[in-house]
Amino acid sequence: MPRKGMHPTFQKKRVVELECISCGNVVCSRGMKAILLADTKVELYSTDSPPSGAVDLVGPPYSTGKCDCKIKDVACILCGNVCGYHVSQPCKPCLSSCNNGHLWMFHSSAVSSLDRLDVAGEEVLVWGKLPEAEHDFYGHTLEMMECER
Ligand SMILES: [Zn+2]
Ligand SMILES: [Zn+2]
Repeated sequence: MPRKGMHPTFQKKRVVELECISCGNVVCSRGMKAILLADTKVELYSTDSPPSGAVDLVGPPYSTGKCDCKIKDVACILCGNVCGYHVSQPCKPCLSSCNNGHLWMFHSSAVSSLDRLDVAGEEVLVWGKLPEAEHDFYGHTLEMMECER
């Protein structure tokens, strides 16, 4: 089922699973490769919903100076590796620009990525086919996934 309200460009993007580069902890099971508009050399992954209990917010909120978004660093809960950041309070220009609505970012240098496959394990999953976070049981509730077949 296609996701409503998502730009077609994002619907075609691959879903990736991200692992902490220092300990292998899965910090994200529904990531999207993104490139910062301000700095196209920086590779990032974004997600709408990190798995619960995989990462933690660390340190005080800050802003990058490029805009007024309030940001907090995100660290791997197992080893403390700072692997990304969370936009805790997006600023107005960012909210109104074309974006995928993702407020969690992961640095490509701090995580390793794997393409996520569909339920049958045959094709690479794309965002247009990904269930909403609350219906996405990937990785933790295998039994429920099998019942849906
Ligand atoms: Zn880690
Ligand atoms: Zn902003």
